[in-house]
Amino acid sequence: MNWLTHENITAPRGRTLNCRGWGQEGALRMLMNNLDPAVGEDPAHLIIYGGRGRAARSWDAYDKIVETLLRLENDQTLLIQSGKPVAVFSTQPSSPRVLIANSNLVGKWASLEEFNRLEDLGLTMYGQMTAGSWIYIGSQGIIQGTFQTLVALAAEHFGSDNLKGRLYVSAGLGGMGGAQPLAAKMLDGVALIAEVDPRRIQRRLDSGYLDEGFTSIPEAVSRALAARSAGESYTIGVQCHANALLDYLLSQQIVPDVLSDQTAAHDPLVGYVPDGLDVDAARLLRSDDPQEYLRRSRHAIAQHVRNLVSLQKLGALTFDYGNNIRREAFDQGVTEAFAIPGYVPAYIRDLFSQGKGPFRWAALSGQAEDIYRMDELALKLFSDNPLLRRWFSLARQYIQFQGLPARIAYMGQGERDTFALRVNELVATGELAAPVVFGRDHHDTGSVASPYRETEAMMDGSDAIADWPILNALLNVASGAHWVAFHHGGGTGIGYSLHSGANTVADGSDDSAGRLRRVLWNDPGLGVVRHADAGYDKAQDTLTAFSDRFDTPLLGPTKLPNT
Ligand code: NAD
Repeated sequence: MNWLTHENITAPRGRTLNCRGWGQEGALRMLMNNLDPAVGEDPAHLIIYGGRGRAARSWDAYDKIVETLLRLENDQTLLIQSGKPVAVFSTQPSSPRVLIANSNLVGKWASLEEFNRLEDLGLTMYGQMTAGSWIYIGSQGIIQGTFQTLVALAAEHFGSDNLKGRLYVSAGLGGMGGAQPLAAKMLDGVALIAEVDPRRIQRRLDSGYLDEGFTSIPEAVSRALAARSAGESYTIGVQCHANALLDYLLSQQIVPDVLSDQTAAHDPLVGYVPDGLDVDAARLLRSDDPQEYLRRSRHAIAQHVRNLVSLQKLGALTFDYGNNIRREAFDQGVTEAFAIPGYVPAYIRDLFSQGKGPFRWAALSGQAEDIYRMDELALKLFSDNPLLRRWFSLARQYIQFQGLPARIAYMGQGERDTFALRVNELVATGELAAPVVFGRDHHDTGSVASPYRETEAMMDGSDAIADWPILNALLNVASGAHWVAFHHGGGTGIGYSLHSGANTVADGSDDSAGRLRRVLWNDPGLGVVRHADAGYDKAQDTLTAFSDRFDTPLLGPTKLPNT
């Protein structure tokens, strides 16, 4: 195998080890999988998703990471500093094999402008969440989150468990945004998504996430309205700027039932295309005159949020879907931007309080059958959980795998470790064709501080307290995850979030079982503790339900002594 190719990268498959242990092998394969053209959005530039979220700093850095993982011993740890492999140290067999820190900046310096300056100097890179921590699994990684969000929205606002006869309008069909139409379809709704880049529309048509693409806004809208009236489940991409679609809807007084946005507005330089520019013109202006680009982009984002608020006032159920678009617009003088609620406090907080979040696994065999076997196991283990049952059957029906076959499921406290330990046994007995990587998004219960997303509107006001994700990363290192990452920026952008990730390989050994038992209990467990500390009843209930396994000496606000 040519390890150092930079084109059409695919992760090795099967049971044969290329590295000296499955911890290293899992990290290597998931890094390569991120860069698989079927997985990453722009692998030629090492960009995986989410604006400029990269897997490695440069191709030279990538080559050195691969070479080092191939020779890394089972008592050594490789350190990655913003996508660049900087050192190998002697540690212990039970330690992580890779430690990653991406995009971190000291608070006062944590502005997009300063980050861009340091990136230009070759000193850092943007790691997003799962791009630089090597656990991106394609658009499936967000489908279930979108599905869960829309399920909660439908229950709360429509008293229903589906979106039949409802129109969901949004923008952005990138790595994450591309999941929106399929999630709406899984709930029998109609999705109409604006996207400026025709290649992204084509990609989602090819993967079955979109049913039809249009270049004419009136035609796309009329098809969407016909589908809504017929109660048909249908997904449409329309090639245009978000503002063009929203302007048209407003001019015609057409009100979507549900409205959001998933352009990469958290990064106005790379992730948002201003009105009046197509993608090629945008690329030129971005490199010729980045200041002018930023000015135009921020202006368009402000108008975009004004349009969202106008439709919200007309009755569209509108929510921010985690791209920090409200803050960008607020900074441009759109004082009503925060009239739009964030999706986490509105629809996800209860799940976080129960330790539930975007848990995922990938089959290193490369065989879809391994994922189906694990689906069966999950359905058996969690037969009393109707939402999980519904998700697994929908996932089986609709999800097309990208790269290594993978599955995501919002499992909670006590479920993740139980499931992974059984999978480890299936690897040991040979019922699964090869080891399995367990990981998760950084967008999880105890792993992130992000006041405009995961920790928005915390009950105790602790939105910006960032001790929790740091404790999370340290705890996962102490628990023996195979690779652990700590990042800044992520989905809401530089200055707006700190978060960590942890990944562990089930290779069928006792060593793996120990790691999985510790990591997959402790990691969500810290999220439950974080939410109980903030005063959430559901989190307290979770602590009580597992009172024999939690030990929490002091929770809740605790003031300094008077001096
Ligand atoms: P991406 O960079 O892969 O895709 C963004 C897409 O938006 C691109 O296809 C781009 O062409 C399109 N776009 C940009 N400007 C546009 C405009 N004016 N009109 C129409 N289309 C436009 O990003 P992604 O991975 O899809 O992520 C999207 C956003 O969601 C990011 O801000 C990301 O950080 C955030 N995110 C949210 C979650 C969540 O759980 N809610 C998770 C991950 C990422």
